[in-house]
Amino acid sequence: MLDCIFCKIANKEIDSQIVFEDDKMVAFKDLSPQAPVHLLIIPKKHIQSLADVSEDDVKLLGEMLIRVKKLAEEFELENGYRTVINTRGDGGQTVDHLHIHLLGKRKMQCPPG
Ligand code: AMP
Ligand code: ZN
Repeated sequence: MLDCIFCKIANKEIDSQIVFEDDKMVAFKDLSPQAPVHLLIIPKKHIQSLADVSEDDVKLLGEMLIRVKKLAEEFELENGYRTVINTRGDGGQTVDHLHIHLLGKRKMQCPPG
């Protein structure tokens, strides 16, 4: 997708602090972290949002969640963490490329604001 900032990150057209990459996904540090650990996990293929996934994406989505678990272990989030997927306008999504936020190393408020 032309002009998608997260596609550009996945394609290394713009810099980011990548912490994991394979053939299907990339995980990198959020530019304005809301917690001491704040990672974004994205598919390499452009999917606009969670509202735009299809049955074809079942394996990919499962692998992204397993990656969240592994990254949480790697970043020593054994006390817990929060995962967030903002979806479309009312969900507060600002970048229209599916991403999972992984936030940790601080006590989260419940419910999220
Ligand atoms: P959302 O509001 O759920 O769409 O989240 C988008 C997230 O992307 C925000 O937390 C931003 O701080 C983050 N973000 C935007 N641009 C970049 C970038 N170039 N590198 C890393 N994170 C970014
Ligand atoms: Zn994209």
